[in-house]
Amino acid sequence: MSDHLSVPDLGPAPGTGTAQARERLLACAGAGLLRHAVDPEYGGAGDGFHELVAAHEALGRRSRDPGLLLAVNAHLWGSVFALQKFGSAGQRAAWIPKLLDGRAIGGHAITEPQAGSDVQGLAATAVEDGDGYRLNGHKRFITNAPLADLLVVYARLGEGGPLSAFLVQADDPGAGFRDGPVVQGCATASMGDVVLEDCRLPKTRLLGREGAGATMIQLALELERAFVFAGLLGVMEWQLEHVTAHVRLRPSGDGRLADVQAVAHRVAAMKLRLDTARLWIERCAALCEAGRRITLASAQTKLYASEAFLDNSLDAVHLLGAAGLQGELPALVQDALAGRLLSGSSEIQKNIIAALLGLGGRR
Ligand SMILES: Cc1cc2nc3c(=O)[nH]c(=O)nc-3n(C[C@H](O)[C@H](O)[C@H](O)COP(=O)(O)OP(=O)(O)OC[C@H]3O[C@@H](n4cnc5c(N)ncnc54)[C@H](O)[C@@H]3O)c2cc1C
Repeated sequence: MSDHLSVPDLGPAPGTGTAQARERLLACAGAGLLRHAVDPEYGGAGDGFHELVAAHEALGRRSRDPGLLLAVNAHLWGSVFALQKFGSAGQRAAWIPKLLDGRAIGGHAITEPQAGSDVQGLAATAVEDGDGYRLNGHKRFITNAPLADLLVVYARLGEGGPLSAFLVQADDPGAGFRDGPVVQGCATASMGDVVLEDCRLPKTRLLGREGAGATMIQLALELERAFVFAGLLGVMEWQLEHVTAHVRLRPSGDGRLADVQAVAHRVAAMKLRLDTARLWIERCAALCEAGRRITLASAQTKLYASEAFLDNSLDAVHLLGAAGLQGELPALVQDALAGRLLSGSSEIQKNIIAALLGLGGRR
């Protein structure tokens, strides 16, 4: 990795708080970590998805902070890549350089209080109003909302109309990017509600085509699902090393815990899950670099990697015995529970895989 793309030394994860979340995200921007796989015309590194995966893995290993990793992913897949793919030349030039160097923080707002998995149930509206749009609605569980400058917000063109995407700024009149409600898991990420009350936007804030929102959500989530666990590979590596060192030292009978086959098998399973998750993520990187679709591979990757992180997090606590309930290992179990839900739950990934096999018509 070249110098400008190095990983910042962030130290251990701090407590929660918007100021700390911003500071750590800015440190990543300052180290060039947000530039991978982005066009150099807009300040990107012009490299590929393999470099992105390697950088995220290194960040995960160094920070051991799933909240920070979540914030980075929401910023990238929610706004940077959505702009790169769907933005007009003017929108890309205005926003991407700022999002890469930390002058702006982004994310995307899809979920609403009454609709998470069920994207058909989204109800926020955008109504044409003179030479612009008027947005109303309520979004929930939006990563980076309290510190975001810009969010890609999905709303229906009129009640029951097709979904469209809009660039909403924190300082737009009628837009509220709020803090909370707090969820357990990925605690250092900042999360909140987005409340739109007659939020008036000029036409230039439409992202992509009118009515193309459903496709745009799908493409944004495919990238998120493919790569959101890349950083967590680094965390899983640390878990494995921590546990291995412990069982090698811990006396058991006239040997060590590591000599007990049931214990060694549990560690072997952790290693297999880690390496298999990495293979899936690298497969997605290869497909993206070849310009291929990742609908199936990204669902398989998200499903496998999120379940693997949860299983490894549970095994790590268990293998340390009661000492596993001290320190940072238990929080990773909560992080892994959040990981199974965000970006589409495990059941939703199975629905996608089944649908691509022509199965599971009744959802
Ligand atoms: C840490 C975190 C960060 C997030 N960040 C963002 C963000 O930045 N932007 C954003 O828009 N959203 C974000 N979300 C919201 C996330 O996308 C939703 O939580 C997720 O889509 C699930 O929706 P839900 O929570 O409403 O659960 P529900 O949709 O109510 O699902 C509840 C349960 O029912 C199951 N279920 C639901 N429908 C089906 C079905 N058809 N088939 C099988 N099982 C089903 C689910 O698997 C789940 O177990 C985040 C969530 C978390 C936890």
